[in-house]
Amino acid sequence: RPVDLTQLIIDRIRDVPDYPKPGVTFKDITPLLADHAAFAAVIDAIVAHYGRGTIDKVAGVEARGFILAAPVAYHFGAGFVPVRKKGKLPSSTYAESYDLEYGSETIEVHQDAFTPGERVLIVDDVLATGGTARATAELVRRTGAQVAGLSVLMELGFLNGREKLADLDLHAMVTV
Ligand code: AMP
Repeated sequence: RPVDLTQLIIDRIRDVPDYPKPGVTFKDITPLLADHAAFAAVIDAIVAHYGRGTIDKVAGVEARGFILAAPVAYHFGAGFVPVRKKGKLPSSTYAESYDLEYGSETIEVHQDAFTPGERVLIVDDVLATGGTARATAELVRRTGAQVAGLSVLMELGFLNGREKLADLDLHAMVTV
């Protein structure tokens, strides 16, 4: 892993204050995605962290997780599985709900997306409170597959999401 990868990520994730609401600083990964060298470096680093041959499927969380998970899956030689907001997947699904700061969210996965025993890597852009990641891990396990790890570009350490995910191999490329 190049020594400057951490700095590369920090430099290309833009803080947008008070988005989507006052008091929240949104971590905008679009500058990183638009930089081909940075985008390639983060995908390569995720694959290198786990190693080829260790992952059967990569699950991406709607919507920014899709962008990262698909090239990771390609480089692993693994399949890609979308985890989507409620009502978006066409066939039979499992659903998990979790609390947000205001209200709640429900995410779904197709019941036949994984084969029992498959090793699944979950990928997302930002780990905040950990609710999304925990619900995604639960969805994977309900299919009989196993969660091999969770990889995120950026962990917001002050929200303590990691504490909800003590049973997961968490790979955070940057923690702020
Ligand atoms: P959480 O469930 O609280 O860990 O939130 C993680 C999910 O919400 C991820 O899918 C992120 O894309 C998104 N998210 C939460 N907080 C932020 C933030 N400050 N900036 C960008 N995305 C965020």
